[in-house]
Amino acid sequence: MKIVLKNLSKIFPAMGKKNKDVVVAVDNLDIEIPDGKLVGLLGPSGCGKSTTLYMISGLQKPTMGQVFFGDDDVTMLEPEHRGVGLVFQNYALYPHLTVKQNIMFPLQNLKGAEKLSKEEMLRRAQEAADLVQIGDLMERKPSALSGGQQQRVAIARALAKAPRVLLLDEPLSNLDARLRLQTREEIKRIQRETGVTTVFVTHDQEEAMSISDVIVVMKNGVMQQVGEPQKVYDDPGNLFVAQFLGTPPINVFNGKISGGDLYIGDEKIMEVHAEGADRPVTVGIRPEGFIPSEEGVLSGKLRTVEVMGRDCSVVFTNESSQKPSVRAIVDSDIGARFDSTGLVRFNLKRNKVFLFEAETGERIRF
Ligand code: ADP
Ligand code: MG
Repeated sequence: MKIVLKNLSKIFPAMGKKNKDVVVAVDNLDIEIPDGKLVGLLGPSGCGKSTTLYMISGLQKPTMGQVFFGDDDVTMLEPEHRGVGLVFQNYALYPHLTVKQNIMFPLQNLKGAEKLSKEEMLRRAQEAADLVQIGDLMERKPSALSGGQQQRVAIARALAKAPRVLLLDEPLSNLDARLRLQTREEIKRIQRETGVTTVFVTHDQEEAMSISDVIVVMKNGVMQQVGEPQKVYDDPGNLFVAQFLGTPPINVFNGKISGGDLYIGDEKIMEVHAEGADRPVTVGIRPEGFIPSEEGVLSGKLRTVEVMGRDCSVVFTNESSQKPSVRAIVDSDIGARFDSTGLVRFNLKRNKVFLFEAETGERIRF
């Protein structure tokens, strides 16, 4: 089921004396979510991810704009008639019901033509439980399950309804690091097996990058960029996206374009063919874009070398860096050659260097 969001906005009214301003939680969102794909909705806390998800589910009505499932305008349709499965961060299981009863709960509420026989409900509950690999825990109460198992029950409950659309709101946030990794692989597998169109909300860029077919990056309710994770990483449309994706994050410098060359401080970095006048620019350099070289174009003062097995971080300072230190990732055998003091120099991989307008953060092609 393809999902289309058309000029979708949500404005919350001002609340009382202290909050005099309305909140534009989602601002004119225009997105097409392809059928059968897993889409990661990504952005910092408060950027409107959950609100977007709730408008897709029907739990919240948009202030403006429309939601389509396929060709159907579902904007005004009640949540229970949309065929969506929703999973929240805090599993929201009924503590007094067993796993089986929890999974069957939404099926028991189906009315009229959708009503299911007891056998059919049991069959669907077992099938969903098997899919998320908790099929042998059906008689347990939630209190006798680990966090990861509880989240699987919540996912099974959403899947048992055979939803047209699966919506996951930060489903892994309450799990510890290892379980989070395992469960996200699991979600990817389940999504592939069922082929259900899935929207996965997270503030964690690594999680979104690793799990999604397509990511949508949001900031302050406004969509910044849509695309395959690697493409967005390799070709960010603005400084915000460049900074939000990637660990360690991209290094940011104050630079300038002058006479067809890019400068950081007084060092001439590379020739650029950018449109427009000579001007100050913001320069982003990915940590993997540095090549140590004695004749390198960019210099810095070495702070420390952190060896991490396969590769290592060379941490150095540069007066034009917007952060106190710059981080380059290089092979560990190269990193070992740095001594603990003195000057370091790097050449730069051209495709790892990005230029942005100093004022707006818009990308400058060169
Ligand atoms: P996210 O899920 O990305 O963290 P949300 O969609 O929850 O962000 O919230 C987006 C913005 O809307 C935030 O500024 C939040 O405070 C505000 N907001 C969310 N729900 C409400 C509400 N019911 N009433 C007023 N403001 C809200
Ligand atoms: Mg949220």
